[in-house]
Order: sequence, then structure tokens, then C-alpha cells
Amino acid sequence: MKITQIISHVLQYDLPEELGYSQQYYSKRSAHLVEIRTDEGITGWGECFGPGNIAIANKGIVEKVIQPMILGDDPMDRSVIWHKVYNLLRDHGQKGMPMQALSGVDIALWDIAGKVANLPISKLIGGNHRDKVAVYGYGMMLRRESVDEMIPRFEDEAAAIKAAGFVATKMKVGLGPKDDVKLAEAVRKGVGDDYPFMVDANHCYTTSDAFYIGRALEELDAFWFEEPVAPEDLDGYRELRAGLKINISGGEAEFTRWGWRHLLEGRCVDIAQPEVCALGGISEYLKVLALAHAHFTPVINHVWGSAIAIATNLQLLAAMPPIPGGLFPREPLLEFDTTHHLFRDDLLLEPLNIQAQVAKSSGFVSIPTGAGIGVEPDIDFIKRFTLA
Ligand code: CA
Repeated sequence: MKITQIISHVLQYDLPEELGYSQQYYSKRSAHLVEIRTDEGITGWGECFGPGNIAIANKGIVEKVIQPMILGDDPMDRSVIWHKVYNLLRDHGQKGMPMQALSGVDIALWDIAGKVANLPISKLIGGNHRDKVAVYGYGMMLRRESVDEMIPRFEDEAAAIKAAGFVATKMKVGLGPKDDVKLAEAVRKGVGDDYPFMVDANHCYTTSDAFYIGRALEELDAFWFEEPVAPEDLDGYRELRAGLKINISGGEAEFTRWGWRHLLEGRCVDIAQPEVCALGGISEYLKVLALAHAHFTPVINHVWGSAIAIATNLQLLAAMPPIPGGLFPREPLLEFDTTHHLFRDDLLLEPLNIQAQVAKSSGFVSIPTGAGIGVEPDIDFIKRFTLA
């Protein structure tokens, strides 16, 4: 079998309302899908992390840089292809956009491998430890509002996510330490006691500010504090993890086994959050997972993007071994964006219907059993939302 063509599809639409996190506000939803065609008529689908203009630039890397390197190669030679591309890109980007671009290509190659074997990827990588996974819903995004407007909105949104059936929820912070604590108090009030909520700073804080917020979050019994400091600040991570009782999580902005090595060896996180659509694809994710387990660090995947990314993550979550194991191990969670997202809800020929499954099944969603990533996108839908 030979790779005959690699196509990037960058999709975009205007959100009904502007959303924000600690780094920026955004008003467009985008997605970057990778389609790999072969001479045997089997087509694989993958996705690259990165919105907006990042996706447009990554399309150039996929089609103009990676495609010429691997055109004509056997798509079943995933590891050979991965290392050929990585070695040729090494001088030009061991992290960031080149790795995001390679990720989508690698995921599409795994989709092809699953279709050739007529097995879901979860089976190819070792089998299903579970046939359903619990879902946490994130929302409580920042908006251009006063903190007095945000407090009741965060309380209401948190209560609504709990009422929708999600097993936990996650909020954004980033207004500054004192206002962030007020928002976290509102979320706790919204969900009541004994319901887990998490807090995502998207790396906007110094270590000392993160300590201030982290101590307040401990009082509120928050489950984890995500990306408190910059991803490069491994010393800050290490100090926070040693000094706070709350779980410190992070890693969505880390890439490859070589990047993750430092984060894990440095004892920087209680919970690792690898992003398969960025760190190097499924091939590299499996190495990062093994590395995390070698350090006895639990993994809860970072999930962002369209239904292709969600389906990919469901395959990985199904096959994730419990570490260290036991009768009642802590199970992985699927991260789920509860805000407006057509590429998550309407992209597939047979939708995953995550929200309906969550509502019906006490917060759980089943693992797709079809070959490869287990889902197929609707080409007409893709054409409708493709950027000119
Ligand atoms: Ca995050």
C-alpha cells in the first residue's frame, strides 16, 4: 500500500458569542483535519491541535513539508514514517507547530492501520480496559464582563454542567489571584459539596500568585489546578507540587518523549495531560504514556478539537492501563468542551452524541467499536465549513 495524497482541511465558523481564557478572547471556532489517501482506496483521518491562523500555518507544514517527505511510503510503516519526518524536522522545530502537524498525520496513519486490520485502534494498542469512560465538562469561560457579572454566571454554568450529567467540571481563571478565588468560590457554590471541580489557569501566573490561588483552592477542595505557571517553568511546577496539597496538572503544551521526560523526571505534575493531536500523534502518545507510567504519574488526556480528536482520545482512554491497579482504581476521564462547537457535534456521519450519552448514562460515554478511530467525517459538512 502507498500514500498517494495528504490533504489538510481547515474548518472555521463564527461563534455565537465570544469566549476567552487567560491568554485571549476568541470569536471563531476552527479545526484542522488531516486526510490521508492511499492507492488501495483506504482513507485515514487525523487532527492537528491549533486554532485559527495556527491551523492555516500547520496546513502548510502538513501539505508542503511533510507530504513530500512521505508520499509513496507504505502507510502501515507508522514508526518509520514518524522518525523520518521527525529527524528531518528536528533542526526546524522539536516542539510546537511542526509536531502538531506531524500529530495529525500520525493519527491518520493509525486510522488506516485500524481499517486495514478491521479493528478499532484500542485493540491495536493492547485492548480495552474499559468500554465506557466518564466525562468531565468544561465551561465557565472568561468574557469581557466585570467580575461581579462573572460570579453569578460561573455559579449558574457550573450548576448546569452538573445537572447535564457530567461527573465533574472545570473552570477557567485568569483575572488575577483575588478575583479568581471569588470565581472558584462561585463554582463550588454552584455545584455544592462532594462534586469535583477543576481550575485551569492556562499558564498565566507566577509561582507566588499560583501559591496564593492554590491555597484557596485547597480550602474549596478543588480536584486539580491546571497549568498554573508557564510550561517552560519546570522549577515553578516542582515548587508548587511540593508545596501544595491540591493536585497540580499540566502538559498540554509539552511535546514528544524528550519534552515529557523533563516534566516527569522533574516530578512537576500530579496528573499528566498529554495532547495527542499536538505532542506527536498516537505513536508518540504511547511512548509518553509509558514514560508517565514509569514515573507512576496518572494520565488524564488533554482533549481539544473536533469529533475526530474526541474519537481518537476515546480509543486511547479505552486502552489506558490503570496505574498502579487495584479493585477500585482511579479511572481516566474524557475532557469535554461544553461550549458551542459544531465540529464536535455535527461533523460525523454517525455523531457520537456525547451530551445525550452523558445525560442518559450517569456521565459516561461508550467507546466507538468501528475500525480505526471508529468514526467517519461527513465530507459535505467539511466542504461547507472549509476556509476558502
Ligand atoms: Ca487546559
